[in-house]
Amino acid sequence: MKDKPNLTIEDLIEKIKKYNDDSNELEIINKAYEFALEKHKNQKRLTGVDYIKHPLNVAYILSNINADYQTISAALLHDTIDIANVSKSELEREFGNEIASLVNGVSKINRLNYSGDNEATITNHRKILVGLTEDVRVIIIKLADRVHNMRTMGVLSESKQKENAKETLEIFTPIAHRLGMNQIKTELEELSLRYSKPDVYYSIVERLNKSKIERNKYVDDMMNEVSKILNEHGIKHEIKGRAKSIYSIYKKLDTGRRFSDIYDLLALRVFVDTEADCYQVMGLIHSKYRPVPKRLKDYIAMPKSNMYQSLHTTVFGADGNFFEIQIRTYEMDQIAEHGIASHWSYKEKGKSVMQDTMEEKLQFFRTIMEIKENDPNDEEFVNAVKEDVLNDIIYVYTPKGDVIELPLGSTPIDFAYRVHSKIGDTMVGAIVNEKIVPLDYKLKNNDVIKINTNKNQAGPSLSWLDIVYTSGAKNKIKSFFNKIDKEEYLKKGEELLNKELHKKKLSIQSFLTNDNLEKIYKELKIDNTKDLYINIGNNKYSANQIINIITNENRTKEQILYDKVLNNNSKEVKEYKGDIVVEGIDDIKVNIASCCKPVPGDDIVGYISSGHGINIHRVICPNVLDIKERLIDVKWNNETTKKYSTNILVTTSDNKEMLFNIISKTANSNIVVQNINTINSDNEYIIDVNVSVYNSDDLNKFMIDIKNIPNVKNVKRIVK
Ligand code: MN
Repeated sequence: MKDKPNLTIEDLIEKIKKYNDDSNELEIINKAYEFALEKHKNQKRLTGVDYIKHPLNVAYILSNINADYQTISAALLHDTIDIANVSKSELEREFGNEIASLVNGVSKINRLNYSGDNEATITNHRKILVGLTEDVRVIIIKLADRVHNMRTMGVLSESKQKENAKETLEIFTPIAHRLGMNQIKTELEELSLRYSKPDVYYSIVERLNKSKIERNKYVDDMMNEVSKILNEHGIKHEIKGRAKSIYSIYKKLDTGRRFSDIYDLLALRVFVDTEADCYQVMGLIHSKYRPVPKRLKDYIAMPKSNMYQSLHTTVFGADGNFFEIQIRTYEMDQIAEHGIASHWSYKEKGKSVMQDTMEEKLQFFRTIMEIKENDPNDEEFVNAVKEDVLNDIIYVYTPKGDVIELPLGSTPIDFAYRVHSKIGDTMVGAIVNEKIVPLDYKLKNNDVIKINTNKNQAGPSLSWLDIVYTSGAKNKIKSFFNKIDKEEYLKKGEELLNKELHKKKLSIQSFLTNDNLEKIYKELKIDNTKDLYINIGNNKYSANQIINIITNENRTKEQILYDKVLNNNSKEVKEYKGDIVVEGIDDIKVNIASCCKPVPGDDIVGYISSGHGINIHRVICPNVLDIKERLIDVKWNNETTKKYSTNILVTTSDNKEMLFNIISKTANSNIVVQNINTINSDNEYIIDVNVSVYNSDDLNKFMIDIKNIPNVKNVKRIVK
């Protein structure tokens, strides 16, 4: 777990000989070393050591997981293309196609751009993920490369260290985890924590050190006791105390648990020869120590999706301490530590065997392939893989005990679609741990899920798109709707639009006017209502989006109008049709404000309202007095044609025959009294007269006439 700056090729060969003594293959490894040594001569690492020590260390890390000679050779050569300008064809000539393409594969994802440029990061992450699906050994080399680079990262600037740590946790450790490469994953996590949160890292280290002697004593005692029982029953075994990884402790502390509460700090691991022994060991341990309820996990009968197998149990041990005990065979241990990298084949061609194993045994691989099938762009692809594959994963089970891995946050619908599209399409309900659950239930680790289906089920519901978590399920639901009959969309689309209009209290007739339809057609590039409904029904557009085309249209038009008015400098005289003139603009919708009720001849101003055109106020109206924005100059046309309604208030001291007197003043004039009301006050009367008039001249004359009626104290226009 430490950089070996003095590592030699002899050390490497000696290590490899422990699992591979094929002299031809060792010869090629040697040749790769000599080649890289020559190409990197005079080159130094940032740490100051000769460059060759880096590829040598990477190869050495890979020899720890018994890598085949092609992978070891490619590791030795992995920086020759990028750092020493060697061409791929030269590598092909010297080492053949397989090794050359491994080196080239690593180089492709080597060109890292740490500028924080999002697009470059996405492109590179896509290359890593695609590399996985083409030859997983490229990624295994890349992981070893990352391990050594992080071991020697102390010389980098703090910001580079943190960036490296962030990227490692974002993409490399999740991949190592999915590949079952626990040892490499653990080291990368710890290095990342050390550089990204050094204070947290060292405080955990310190606390572990403080309690070390005490913990060691408990663990030693427990190991001796357990060993004694197993020996009494003639079970060949080994027991090791197990240090919890600092990163896993950090994660638990991070979820709010206290250091003293992390009871599996005391942990041991029992190794035996056979699977049957595993179960016997667990039985014997439980016969002596009471197991903690619900902590027993049988990952032998139900392996994790990254192939991990073991029995887990937690017991109340000596001195009242909890002990987490893992029981496994040596073979299971290899898989637990190295995952896919315990499947090297030395007899057949490496790539196909390991790639086949991966495709067959690792679910995440199939998930990546499924995501790829939908032909996403780089960003969609990387995001979908991160969401569905590399995020926090839960393991759940089918009723038959098959394990299914899903991202945390998945629902029974995601589960159904992960098992098979048909199950998703025909599902009608879900039973989790023998209880009926709603479809938006969030699945938990170890849930056993039974999906109820009905062959007559018409298909998934569009509303599921809001419930499901995985992009896989989303795509399958969408593709279902792409397949069903257009008639079906048509019906659905019409329903959805009606429903949404109803929600917004808009009537269908008033919404689907010819004008509005024209706008929608233009926007969607279609030419009939049938296509409109299909577009909504197949979820290409939501009903809301369609409604917004019209609602936004109004706003935009108003904005355009406003700009037009403000920027209009033309002084040319035009013929305007309406009673109210907005300079330079024809055909404008205006409303006469009901607060101040202007009539032709009054000084007026326009106010651009949201969604209702221009409101016309008198300039003295208090409702526009303090407003500066949205006001525009307007005036009455030279000739107006209509009568306008307005109100005047008459204050009198005597009510006798007053109403008659007022109305009689309209004789022989163009004034019509529409309504008249008397409001009694203490010792006077206020009469509200609603009239319709052609212009302010007529109105003013009328008001003077009223003023001359005896007992009238005051006459004025109303402004509310
Ligand atoms: Mn490298």
